[in-house]
Amino acid sequence: MRLFAAVQPPPPAVAELAGVVSEVRRLPDADRLRWADQQGWHLTMAFYGEVDEVVLPELSARLGRAAARHQPPTVRLAGGGRFGDRALWVGMSEGRPELERLAASATAAGRRVGIPMEGRPFHGHLTLARTRNTAATRLRPFADALASFQGTSWVVTSLLLMRSDPGEVGQPPRYSPVGQWPLGREPGPGVTVEP
Ligand code: ATP
Ligand code: MG
Repeated sequence: MRLFAAVQPPPPAVAELAGVVSEVRRLPDADRLRWADQQGWHLTMAFYGEVDEVVLPELSARLGRAAARHQPPTVRLAGGGRFGDRALWVGMSEGRPELERLAASATAAGRRVGIPMEGRPFHGHLTLARTRNTAATRLRPFADALASFQGTSWVVTSLLLMRSDPGEVGQPPRYSPVGQWPLGREPGPGVTVEP
């Protein structure tokens, strides 16, 4: 199964961002982008890729312990950017160093269970849309439209292990939580969803 660790904004932060995104989606060519489903909005902490399910218990245990070691950080979404003309994202103006440390722990957890982790530098962002393979669309106007966005701050209370399953053709993948652990305190049993 395809797995990644992430944190998710709480409903008020999602609603606030959704308001801004609905404005941005009025720009020309917005319909040519593949917009992420707001229920799946997240900040990636570590990408594990295709992982054998036998590692799930140990990875979960390690993620739970890692989460417990980090105090819940306050984060704020702000501004916009893009990865070339592939992905459009909203960035962060608060909480980045704390999330970078959490991301490093989630990456280390993967490495310790034998997942070959890439050494990519952390880039705190929440992906809003991707271009479709068939239609290259300039993302700059969309990133510019997000530049002045300053969200309300919120507290990250948990770390999630998410499973990514391919969506229908042209649709984004579907993410589902496989585990969730509180930050800053000892974990109880994680939410476990049968694969
Ligand atoms: P799609 O791949 O269809 O464009 P997606 O990227 O949202 O959709 P996944 O590829 O399953 O779905 O990725 C899940 C999460 O992990 C996303 O936030 C994605 O940006 C991130 N991710 C994917 N691949 C990597 C990678 N090699 N390094 C870091 N993060 C990654
Ligand atoms: Mg991807």
